[in-house]
Amino acid sequence: MPTKRMLTGDRPTGKLHVGHYVGSIKNRVELQHEYESFFIIADLHMLTTKNSKEDIAEVPANARMMVLDSLAAGIEPELATFYLQSAIPEVCEINTIFQNLVTVPRLERMPSLKEMARDAKKEEMPYGLLGYPVLQAADIVLYAADFVPVGEDQLPHIELTREIVRRFNQLYGPVLVEPAARTTRIARLPGTDGRKMSKSYGNAIDLADPPETMTAKISKMMTDPARARRYDPGNPDVCPVFALHRAFTPEARIAEIDAGCRSAALGCVDCKSDLSARLRDRFAPFQDRRREILKSPDVVRDVLADGAKRARAVASATLEAARQAMGLGHAR
Ligand code: SF4
Repeated sequence: MPTKRMLTGDRPTGKLHVGHYVGSIKNRVELQHEYESFFIIADLHMLTTKNSKEDIAEVPANARMMVLDSLAAGIEPELATFYLQSAIPEVCEINTIFQNLVTVPRLERMPSLKEMARDAKKEEMPYGLLGYPVLQAADIVLYAADFVPVGEDQLPHIELTREIVRRFNQLYGPVLVEPAARTTRIARLPGTDGRKMSKSYGNAIDLADPPETMTAKISKMMTDPARARRYDPGNPDVCPVFALHRAFTPEARIAEIDAGCRSAALGCVDCKSDLSARLRDRFAPFQDRRREILKSPDVVRDVLADGAKRARAVASATLEAARQAMGLGHAR
C-alpha cells in the first residue's frame, strides 16, 4: 500500500479526449501504483468561469463520463479515490480559513488568472475567480496531499498553497501538510483545427470515438497551411497532424514522416491515414474496456460514492485538526 498521497483533478468536462490522455491520464495510470491517488472532479472550480444552469445541469453526466473513461484508460478503482468536489462540504470551511491567510495583491499577481478571465470572456474579474487559487489550495491541503503532479504553468499555484500552509502552521501549529509539486512535462496536443485540443472548441478526438469517427476527424484535420498542393514541400513543425504523430508514432517513423513531408515525397492523405491507424490500434483496448464497464451500469456510480466516503473521512479529520489548532468552534 503506498504511503504517500497524490492529488490531481479536472473540471467536469465530460468525455476524455486524446489530449487528456497524453497530458495527464497516461501519467496517472503509471503513478497509481506508487501513490495513493485522489482524483477530484472540480465542479466548484467550474463555477468560476461557467455557472449557468445549463452548465451545472451537465455536471453529473460529465462526472460519470470522466470516471468511466479514466477506468477504461487503466485507472484501477481499488487504487483510486474519485469524488465530486461539491460532495465534500468541508472544503468550504477550510477555504474560508485560507482566504484570511493571503492578500488580494498576492492573488492578483497569479499569472494564470487574467488568462482564465479572458478565456471565459469575463470583462471584470469575479471574486470567485480571484479566489480560485485559494480554493485549489484548500482542495490540496484538505486531503493532506504529499504531492501534486502539475505542468510548469501551475507551479505558482502550488507555491501559493505552500505559502498558505506555512502561514497557517506558523500561526496555529504544525498540523497541515505542505505539498510538493512534481513537475511533469504536460504535452498540449492540438485539436483538429490546430488550436489546443478542447471540448469547448469542438476540435477534440475523444477516446471513446468509434474508429470510423476518429478516421473522419483526422481526415479533416488542418495541416501545414502553406502546403496547398500535393507536390508542395511541407513544414511538419507547423502541422497539427505531425504534433499528434509525435505523441503516438515511434521515433524512426517520425523521422521518415518529417523527411517525407519536407521533400513532398509523403502526401497529407497518407500521413493522416498512418496516424488514424495508430490511434485506432492504440485505443482499441480502451474501447473494449469501456464497453465492458458499461455492461455494469452501477460501477461508475459506486466508484464515485465510495470515493466521496473515503475523501470525506480524510477531509473531516484535516478540518478538525485545523479547528483544534486554531481553537475554532470550541464554544459549540
Ligand atoms: S505530410 Fe503530414 S506532417 Fe506534412 S503537412 Fe501533411 S499532414 Fe502535415
